Amino acid sequence: MARRELAVPENVPGDLFVDETCIECDTCRELAPEVFGSLESGQSFVQEQPANDASWRRALHAVVSCPTASIGTERSAKEAARDLPVHLEGPVYRCGYSSESSYGAQSYFLRRDGGNILVDSPRFAAPLVRRIADSGGVRRMFLTHRDDVADHARFRERFGCERIIHRDDAVIDAEVLLDGDGELGPGLRVIHLPGHTRGSCALLVDDRYLFTGDHLWAWEGRLEMGRNVSWYSWTEQKKSLRKLLDYRFEWVLPGHGRSLHLPAPLMKKEIESLIGRI
Ligand code: SF4
Repeated sequence: MARRELAVPENVPGDLFVDETCIECDTCRELAPEVFGSLESGQSFVQEQPANDASWRRALHAVVSCPTASIGTERSAKEAARDLPVHLEGPVYRCGYSSESSYGAQSYFLRRDGGNILVDSPRFAAPLVRRIADSGGVRRMFLTHRDDVADHARFRERFGCERIIHRDDAVIDAEVLLDGDGELGPGLRVIHLPGHTRGSCALLVDDRYLFTGDHLWAWEGRLEMGRNVSWYSWTEQKKSLRKLLDYRFEWVLPGHGRSLHLPAPLMKKEIESLIGRI
């Protein structure tokens, strides 16, 4: 439970607040971007109290999804808790319910004719699991890298999903071990992107949605990646970024950081710009 006496002073006055236990995961800022902002420290704060019911609903999605229960309000989040995963676009849904064990990494649910896919693992929260079951369950869980596996075992137990991860990041007993680039089926391409970890991989869906784990994210409308989180190799990380110029996509959907949506030619320019900046 968030504690009012620990609220960060930058919150605008009102019912909703963030306290100082925030671990800077970005989940709330992605679910309710108009409400939650980012301090220089990286922590979140309430930049604007929700102005209407729709905004309150998004803020309450953030309340239940915060991995450290750092967001407080007098309102009940019980009904909003049942909305997740929330639709983003096409087959893509945001799971919310980030797990502290993956440092609050965001995860995604993909509705596919050939069987639904989880990209990285959310918290195994009862309302989320019920909604996923009602949507046809999970056939495969694609794990972008070793850090974001969270409650993978409980999803495997509940849905019998195949867990897929690169061999070099196999910190779990996965059913499928990847060795490099490849295809998981029509419209599902794996791109090996070593750098953050040795076995980091992105999943490219329908040449439109790129799930990047901790390889690449957006910040203030620009693509970014971080030398300070290139645990394996910054040199490899830069090579991996160049590799993305060979692919077409319009969305970057990361584990940490913000997502970015641009027409494919502009996305390519944005990658070229990032290559120039690093
Ligand atoms: S969701 Fe993440 S960024 Fe937002 S308050 Fe919670 S820990 Fe902080």
